[in-house]
Amino acid sequence: MNQMRHDSVVHGVAANGALRGIGVRSTLTVDEARRRHDLWATAAAALGRALSATAMFGAMLKGDERVAVQIICQGPLESIYADSDSRGHVRGYARNPHVDFELSAAGKLDVARAIGEGTLYVTRDLGLKEPYTSSVPLISGELGQDFAYYLVKSEQTPSVVSLGVLVAPDFSVQAAGGFIIQALPGAEPNLLEQVEAHVKTLSPVSSIVDAGADAKDILQTVLGPWQATVLAERPLAFHCDCSHERFERALITLGAEEVQDMIDQVGRAELVCNFCNERYLFNSEQLQDILATIKNSAQ
Ligand SMILES: [Zn+2]
Repeated sequence: MNQMRHDSVVHGVAANGALRGIGVRSTLTVDEARRRHDLWATAAAALGRALSATAMFGAMLKGDERVAVQIICQGPLESIYADSDSRGHVRGYARNPHVDFELSAAGKLDVARAIGEGTLYVTRDLGLKEPYTSSVPLISGELGQDFAYYLVKSEQTPSVVSLGVLVAPDFSVQAAGGFIIQALPGAEPNLLEQVEAHVKTLSPVSSIVDAGADAKDILQTVLGPWQATVLAERPLAFHCDCSHERFERALITLGAEEVQDMIDQVGRAELVCNFCNERYLFNSEQLQDILATIKNSAQ
């Protein structure tokens, strides 16, 4: 346990540039998601793994690029959403946060049972005309393997992906992190298999984080035998760009009739951001101002 260490995402290279590695320590970020959405243990593990993967996808972006991950599934979680920008901001939610099962036979949080069958969608907004979405069916529901399958199927990049979240008995997130290791064009054919074999000798990534590792340590542990060089590190945090102003604009787009109804029937409005669960209150006076704005702009 090392709550004082900061969350970050690092990327680097190894094996003379034949391997690319991304590592993330996401304990505080996942715990923030857990606290905001009142996630129960299995839901926290599932969303935490998705947030950790999304944060690593975000680490490969530049400027205003964004990436969003959506998992639509038949298990009790129903769906998971996570997105990230290039600045180490990640946010997300599970449709049903109150999912908790007994530990699996292997003594792990049973993420596959909470997710079940489904589809993984990844949408990249690279500032082009249209965002680009591709999808794969879930092959395991544990998410690490599913993201690896996505990377090889949709992006033609053979990858080893590991994601882990350790949840304490009081449901707080004790440790969270992950890594993605990719073989770059020109790598020896069996290099990634060697990495995979090495990973099997290591503790689960959540235990590595729990023992005090930060993102750099994770990458060094996984790529140790191949001389890893860390090229960049970005701080990571749960962050949503919603605001009172943004919801005010949303109310304006609802139109005069709807806003008048709110004033007449409840006298106030309470809006909740899906992504971060922040609540925004508008009292009667504020709603009257919004109504005036709508009427003025209609003239
Ligand atoms: Zn928000």
